[in-house]
Amino acid sequence: MSAVLVLNATYEPLSVVSLRRAIVLLLKDKAEVIEAAQSRIRAESMSLPMPLVIRLVYFVRVPHRAGVPLTRRAVFVRDDGVCQYCGARPPRAEMTVDHVLPRVKGGITDWENVVCACQRCNTRKGSRTPEEANMPLRRPPFRPQYCAVVLLSHVSVHESWTKYIEPVPGGSIA
Ligand SMILES: [Zn+2]
Repeated sequence: MSAVLVLNATYEPLSVVSLRRAIVLLLKDKAEVIEAAQSRIRAESMSLPMPLVIRLVYFVRVPHRAGVPLTRRAVFVRDDGVCQYCGARPPRAEMTVDHVLPRVKGGITDWENVVCACQRCNTRKGSRTPEEANMPLRRPPFRPQYCAVVLLSHVSVHESWTKYIEPVPGGSIA
């Protein structure tokens, strides 16, 4: 694991950076180590604990709706790779993105109007709404929270990160 979780001064997850970048932030005193591995690394003429989670010493303002880019992959991750109609879990390459309100009916490409759908469900639903097709959604689509950026950018999440990136209980949506 050479990626390091960066927390804002307020301990909110901000991003994921390379180990190299994390070390630069630490050496410049712009960040402090919050979680470290047992091992140490040599940087310049000193030895540092191997950082896993660092925290910026200054506050970075994050725009309220800082975009989680709407990509196929991001929708796949948000929906846990589950077809939101039938619950199937096809490989990512076979998953499609379905517009809940079809585009031909004015549906827009937005977090609240797209879901993962297996090819079979997508074809079956066609250009109908879930109600018309009698295909209820398992979960209404939502805009992911900012911290999901962290999860979306790295599939393998270090154990030490989890307490910082767990979703807010109740799943309030930014
Ligand atoms: Zn399906």
